[in-house]
Amino acid sequence: MRKNYLAGREGGDNLDIIKAVGREADRRQIPAYLVGGIVRDIILQRKNGDIDIVVKADALSFAREVAKTLKAEAKVYGQFGTATLELPGAGRLDIATARKEWYPHSGSLPKVCPGTLQDDLYRRDFTINAMAVSLNKDSFGELIDEFGGMADLKKKKVRVLHDRSFLDDPTRILRAVRFEQRFGFRIESRTLRLLKEAMDDDGMRNVKPPRYFAEFKKMLSESDPLPCLKRLNDLEGLRFMDSRMRLDIPFLKKIHGNWNLLKEKFPFYSQCPAWLIYFMAVVEPMEGPRLDAVLNKFPLRKDEKQSILQVQKKGDLTRRLSAPRLTRSRVCGILRPLSPAAIAYWRAGTPSRRIEKRLDAYAGRDALIRLEINGDDLKRMGASSGRGIGMTLSRVLEMKIDRQRMSRKEELDAARTLMRQG
Ligand code: ATP
Repeated sequence: MRKNYLAGREGGDNLDIIKAVGREADRRQIPAYLVGGIVRDIILQRKNGDIDIVVKADALSFAREVAKTLKAEAKVYGQFGTATLELPGAGRLDIATARKEWYPHSGSLPKVCPGTLQDDLYRRDFTINAMAVSLNKDSFGELIDEFGGMADLKKKKVRVLHDRSFLDDPTRILRAVRFEQRFGFRIESRTLRLLKEAMDDDGMRNVKPPRYFAEFKKMLSESDPLPCLKRLNDLEGLRFMDSRMRLDIPFLKKIHGNWNLLKEKFPFYSQCPAWLIYFMAVVEPMEGPRLDAVLNKFPLRKDEKQSILQVQKKGDLTRRLSAPRLTRSRVCGILRPLSPAAIAYWRAGTPSRRIEKRLDAYAGRDALIRLEINGDDLKRMGASSGRGIGMTLSRVLEMKIDRQRMSRKEELDAARTLMRQG
């Protein structure tokens, strides 16, 4: 009897959703499969919130039916006949028509046409990501493993499906390293040779920077990106960023250790994306035109770029924040223009105890202090000019930060005194 790979997974891996997709496929009499990373993770017994489904039919109309059944919204109808359903509280469900892909030239986007399940699995990056599980009733849970993915999972190998794989899509270089390090696998020896050859090939240059960057961000978002970065550095695989790119691994280790402590300890940093902290560390040794080239090449948001540039001015900030006998409100004045990500990064890397203390006081307390009074209170007390009101409120806030505690009445009294003084 064939093994059911989905048996015994009740309560995990969104099995109810997966079963509902299978039932819908049976109702419409179309073959449907779970494919890619989620199959790998089911076998490895790891969590994966993203469900990828391939059907041998029109994915878009099937997705609409599934969306109705699951009461979800089919949010994005992407290119290549794929649909994405955002599942309330349960990750994403991607549904695609089985397709065949080929690359007109190295690093380009693939050409696509409808294909068989085998075609669809063959277009994938590594054998461990090229397995499927049937969702139809008569074969529910059966594994389709045409390329030896299961054997590679057991041998802990990352292996490409064919020799042109890295040339077709050099972003797979980053993916190979990411999966190798995440799972504690090894890139298989022939695959490693092909990877190195692809890095020497001109094809690297044809990849659009946003595609590299998307993969690099995924790498930096791993729970511990350090082993990936170290491996990529050893392989000289950071050339897609800058031809002279070299990492300072001990410094990255320090950032990693401190960042993990900081994000646990201070809710102030909860909105900082981890990848940005590591990205700052990667680009820190760059300056001037080299840094500008990197920042212009990759699709960074304005606030992300600003954070990176703020970090570059650390020398001046360090000097200002090292001054003895700074009041807490002065410290706030220096830090308030900086983003939490820039402050987190600065704190994670600073060798100075005094700066550490001041940044912790800011993130732990002072940045969160708010006034109980507002402009309306001041207007009721006779204030008229908007500028004057703003200045009075900031002065009262400074007093509150320095005193650490002020009641609403004390805030009003302080504002009244300041207004009288003009
Ligand atoms: P993760 O756990 O990091 O999300 P994943 O394998 O699910 O890993 P995705 O980037 O979500 O990664 O991709 C889903 C699947 O799509 C992969 O498992 C793989 O089969 C296929 N895939 C993704 N990117 C590529 C690529 N560049 N080349 C070929 N196949 C790819």
